[in-house]
Amino acid sequence: MFNNSNHAYIKDGWFREINDKSFPGQAFIMAVDSILYQAQSEFQDILIFRNKVYGTVLVLDGIIQCTEFDEFAYQEMITHIAMFAHSDPKRVLIIGGGDGGVLREVAKHSCVKQITMVEIDASVIELSRKFLPTLSDGAFEDERLDLKLCDGFKFLQDIGDSGLQNRYDVIVTDSSDPEGPAEAFFQERYFQLLKNALNPNGVVIMQSSENIWLNLNYLRDLKNTAKKVFPNTEYCYTMVPTYTSGQLGLIVCSNNASLSLDNPQRVISEQEQEQLKYYNPQIHSSAFVLPTWADMIINK
Ligand code: SAM
Repeated sequence: MFNNSNHAYIKDGWFREINDKSFPGQAFIMAVDSILYQAQSEFQDILIFRNKVYGTVLVLDGIIQCTEFDEFAYQEMITHIAMFAHSDPKRVLIIGGGDGGVLREVAKHSCVKQITMVEIDASVIELSRKFLPTLSDGAFEDERLDLKLCDGFKFLQDIGDSGLQNRYDVIVTDSSDPEGPAEAFFQERYFQLLKNALNPNGVVIMQSSENIWLNLNYLRDLKNTAKKVFPNTEYCYTMVPTYTSGQLGLIVCSNNASLSLDNPQRVISEQEQEQLKYYNPQIHSSAFVLPTWADMIINK
């Protein structure tokens, strides 16, 4: 049985997400009803606990990755903004995403013929399937899936050299935050690798790990880094109560300068819409609209 009071991130029955570098002077805390799992994998510290309101919570290196209650707000937006910004995505690459939530959402698109998922830490997949089965909801059994257990950065370096037939229509970077095994994903070289791995009308999307309230200048810099590589780069966001300050930014890019990333490029069918709780065509476009002060910094 795991001890509730004896963990680096838990004190007196409360999980505390403290990050003095990214969120100085504040912390997000959550009551821990019971700890389901805690251990250090080869790559990161993994903690899974239960909370009355949010259900099962997955934490990597002290940062909340997802909770049963609000995960759809993240998984649907990071997936479907990119998937609907493309007119006919057939080959999709997911970098990271070990909890299976993005895979579940990509698998909902019947136009997709092949899904490659590259996750560095097999234990995140195993533990998520065991303790958070609704995240993947059977998608790891999807016949279109080619699962690779390796570093996503290295995988993209290898793609770059292997010819046109291996490129993707949509790439979703569903990684953890820059401190840890995902550090390389927030740098210019990564955007170059993404560009090389993308078909001409392809779309990439990544979680920015920040939001306009807490790190506006960082977001401006990250978007500018992406802009050095992609002629078409936009910022949008989703609302997730368990990410610090309740929202998370997403960076979306394409090699096609005239593609309107803020507009769905195909009609969502009634059947597709019925499967979704957060994403719809209106929220796709409105997610790119920022409050004036943030717009002035990020988009000017
Ligand atoms: N929704 C989450 C968030 O932003 O808080 C991300 C969830 S998902 C669990 C993040 C995954 O990225 C983890 O399973 C982690 O192991 C994986 N990851 C981190 N670095 C990676 C790398 N270099 N290559 C492939 N996967 C990586």
